[in-house]
Amino acid sequence: IKTIGVLTSGGDAPAMNAAVRAVARIGKERGLKVKGIRKGYNGLLNEDIIDLTPTETADTIFRGGTILFTARCEEFKTEEGQKRGAEICKAHGIDGLVVIGGDGSFQGAKKLAALGINTIAVPGTIDLDIACTEYTIGFDTAVNTAMEAIDKIRDTSTSHERCSIVEVMGRGAGYIALWCGMATGAEDILIPESFDGNLPKVEQQIIEHLLRNRAKGKTHHMVINAEGVGHSYSMAKRIESATGIETRATILGHMQRGGSPTAKDRVYASMMGAYAVDLLCAGKTNRVVGYQNGRFMDMDIDEGLAMTKDIDEYQLQIAHLLGK
Ligand code: ATP
Repeated sequence: IKTIGVLTSGGDAPAMNAAVRAVARIGKERGLKVKGIRKGYNGLLNEDIIDLTPTETADTIFRGGTILFTARCEEFKTEEGQKRGAEICKAHGIDGLVVIGGDGSFQGAKKLAALGINTIAVPGTIDLDIACTEYTIGFDTAVNTAMEAIDKIRDTSTSHERCSIVEVMGRGAGYIALWCGMATGAEDILIPESFDGNLPKVEQQIIEHLLRNRAKGKTHHMVINAEGVGHSYSMAKRIESATGIETRATILGHMQRGGSPTAKDRVYASMMGAYAVDLLCAGKTNRVVGYQNGRFMDMDIDEGLAMTKDIDEYQLQIAHLLGK
């Protein structure tokens, strides 16, 4: 293997830059030429390919976002697009590729591996929704960013004796909500994993909890709502009209994706980027880098994609008890 490429794909996540930087630098250390493919698979199909020397990645470890840009690419989901992608890699001499992204991006990586490009996937998503790993790049920063925002909302919420609903990201996964809920001492945490679709029941539970707490003299009530569990604004209206207690909703949105990465994200992302390069140097392909039981490890992409994971029931139970 002489030349490797690296791309970031799907949703961006803080510390993707640390992983890209590690690929560029460890790649050079291992005697490889490193190319950066900009804008994910889209950039691959458009041959938006640059030389990625260690200098290009200087001053990036503390930056949010991804210096390689990221994109979604419908064309790459087609066999035609994948074949063209593999041909472009070959034309640029890229015989190894590191794909940093979520499980959609892993599907693309798997297809490239089947077409003869040695490909390694690295989990980059703030949602932590990749089953084969206990860590994904960006989750720690996103949780800390949301936590700081929620702390601020709580200050004003307490002053006005309001109920606050804060909606955090996570798509189908409740990890950000669970972590933020526990870290901010939220009274209620709504996550898709334990939501049975019965919104009126969930709202009734919040209403009763809120009224019980008011009777005890509590001045605030914080509800952390994961994406996908009802609409926070209309939920707030219904809770306010049922209780007479002012209730406001805040949707944190894309701020959770940005910002300077935490030390944990910078270090783990660097390790995963380096690990991916070393897998390529060892002649490996169709592997995904993960973190399990305190160690960086790798497994077959297909095996990784077939895995499922559940939210930690014990952690969820404790979070509820702490907010009772
Ligand atoms: P995030 O979890 O942050 O959204 P993701 O990688 O899961 O990241 P997707 O939009 O699912 O995000 O996928 C990113 C890109 O990967 C897609 O735009 C597409 O180019 C490629 N991709 C997704 N699914 C496939 C597939 N089945 N085959 C080939 N390529 C795919």
